[in-house]
Amino acid sequence: MADAPVKEKQVKLQVATLRAEESGAGIARIPRTAMAELGVTEGDVIQISGKRDTAARVVAPYAEDEGIEVIRLDGLQRANAGAGAGDMVHLSRVEMRPATRVVFAPAQENLRLQGSANALKRSFFGRPLVAGDTVATAGQQRVPAGDMPPQLRQMLNAPAYALAEVRLLVVSANPKGVVYIDESTEVELLSEYQEPQDARRTDVTYDDLGGLGDTINQLREMVELPLRYPELFQRLGVDPPRGVLLHGPPGTGKTRLARAVANESDAQFFLINGPEIMGSAYGESEKRLREIFEAATKAAPSIVFIDEIDSIAPKRGQVTGEAEKRIVAQLLTLMDGLEPRTNLVVIAATNRPDAIDEALRRPGRFDREIVIGVPDESGRREILAIHTRGMPLGEDVDLGELARTTFGFVGADMAALTREAAIEAVRRIMPKLNLEEGTIPPEVLAELRVTRDDFLNALKR
Ligand code: ADP
Repeated sequence: MADAPVKEKQVKLQVATLRAEESGAGIARIPRTAMAELGVTEGDVIQISGKRDTAARVVAPYAEDEGIEVIRLDGLQRANAGAGAGDMVHLSRVEMRPATRVVFAPAQENLRLQGSANALKRSFFGRPLVAGDTVATAGQQRVPAGDMPPQLRQMLNAPAYALAEVRLLVVSANPKGVVYIDESTEVELLSEYQEPQDARRTDVTYDDLGGLGDTINQLREMVELPLRYPELFQRLGVDPPRGVLLHGPPGTGKTRLARAVANESDAQFFLINGPEIMGSAYGESEKRLREIFEAATKAAPSIVFIDEIDSIAPKRGQVTGEAEKRIVAQLLTLMDGLEPRTNLVVIAATNRPDAIDEALRRPGRFDREIVIGVPDESGRREILAIHTRGMPLGEDVDLGELARTTFGFVGADMAALTREAAIEAVRRIMPKLNLEEGTIPPEVLAELRVTRDDFLNALKR
């Protein structure tokens, strides 16, 4: 009997999420049984295949995961593998090869990166990379970047240096397959944004939302599942929700959440800004609405997100303007007119749920509601961890303490706080900069830390 061809051992596991603070590190947590089956130990590299192939370094499971058959991946990796939480992926052991050449480009719109491919080399040294992946500079690393407040950029009057995590697309990597950067790798950085090809958009994932665990679960059930598995709902004969109303104070992450759901569901995202669309000329607003719904229907699966819906659809009884009446009527017509099979969900946000037209709350319209509150201490802590990802923090910075002392802050306030603290840190090193030269000496950059005092000073502002 002829020998059967030697087949690589394959293991199939269900995808779950990684803790937000571990995201961007390029690791995958898998069960010890799977490690044994694959013949790998911690630190080895595995290939992960869903609709796409990607790779990660193996790390032991969380203590509470012992005995559970899941692979934990961060949001970028889920996109890179073409698999959402709950999907199955195939794993196999893989040998990484040293890269001769790797080309990166910014994976975020409006992000212009300048210069130093060398800094990138340091950031990704030894990390498993596959062409087409989106990767993040994480941990205490910095790369030159344009992703910073204009205020800061002005102060520096120089190629901008980001104090935050930056997302990059691996445009190409040679040789083919899974590679890593070593001393001899030639690294190139393109300056312009590049849309990932067959991969999902990764500008926002669930990892970028702090303190919203339960909300994310609710939205996953209401929106992500129906968008990703429409046939399941058809089979069961239940209509997935058409409209979901998010209500909560401004700056609590409603917009970010809608974007994350779209990305994680592999759906197109269409944004309608309430006040903006109201400002259009006679008849224009309705036309815009129709156009957006038409485009979203064509591009389905899609999410149409209506921000500040109260401004376009206030209670009709209270409305004096004809324009509002027409727009509400148009929106209702569009929602009622969607074919049951159209894979489209409308998510609307408001901070005044009782101020919107009741007709919009009827079955088949915005008949689901999710409340998003002001984050509590642990939520604020999570949000801080997200916004300080990639920020070189001083040893005296205690995120727990900051979370305790920021009662009442919403996500947007926490984001502003970390931004301000970074600016404080830059202010401190300003005297050491030679602004004429337009570059920051590497040794100054290397010692740049955002300290506890920077945060306290930022809080005072
Ligand atoms: P909303 O739509 O509720 O007004 P956004 O989603 O526009 O709020 O949030 C504004 C910004 O505040 C976001 O881009 C993000 O930087 C930050 N932010 C808000 N909520 C969160 C959160 N839960 N986690 C992380 N960042 C948040």
